Amino acid sequence: MILAQHHNRPSPCEEANMILELFTIQVSLTLENAMLNKKFQNLSITDALTNLYNHRYFAEKMQKEISLCCYMKKEMCLIMLDVDFFKSYNDNFGHPAGDMVLKTMSKIFSQVVRPKDIAARYGGEEFAFILPETTLRDGIELAEKIRQSIENTVFPHRPVTASLGIANYPAHTTNAKELLELADKALYHAKSAGRNRVSVAPSVQNN
Ligand code: GH3
Ligand code: MG
Ligand code: MG
Repeated sequence: MILAQHHNRPSPCEEANMILELFTIQVSLTLENAMLNKKFQNLSITDALTNLYNHRYFAEKMQKEISLCCYMKKEMCLIMLDVDFFKSYNDNFGHPAGDMVLKTMSKIFSQVVRPKDIAARYGGEEFAFILPETTLRDGIELAEKIRQSIENTVFPHRPVTASLGIANYPAHTTNAKELLELADKALYHAKSAGRNRVSVAPSVQNN
């Protein structure tokens, strides 16, 4: 009996191996949890179709960016984009083909915007871009680059274009809600002026 107990007791070397094994399991579980947390965090801020940021994240980021501009006396631009005649694209070539257009567009956006910019799917076929520390002039240049990249992309079935509206903090307004409304107003001006163009927000005084 005493001999058996003695026989079952792990040697110091076996004990060290067991501890190492337990430690390895613990580390891998911790890493796995961290990766899962990151994955869920990413899922909660990402749009499933386009992989761009979703509306919720956009709204949060917008608020933070405006506060930063206010405290640090910085400027920023907001771009709103809407695909032109997209309903007819869906009607003619089907909803899955329309989805492919949105996916392709998101890839274009990711290539064109700068690392500091936030490109988000605002909803349906509307996209929004937060451009931190960007003058109106540089913002217009980037908006034009986005517009041209879409125009120059060969989509299946037929060409696709988009209209964009841009507004600047603080040139147009220092209010987050108003900045959105002004960029949206500019977007609808781009639509009514013939689409496939960039329009700048009117200043608050004369809108
Ligand atoms: P406009 O040039 O005035 O923007 O014309 P439009 O036809 O694009 O009009 P609107 O912006 O109102 O179009 C919205 C259409 O976008 C309706 C719907 O068919 C399409 N759409 C919205 N979300 C999605 C989506 O997730 N997938 C696809 N395939 N189509 C979508
Ligand atoms: Mg729309
Ligand atoms: Mg549209």
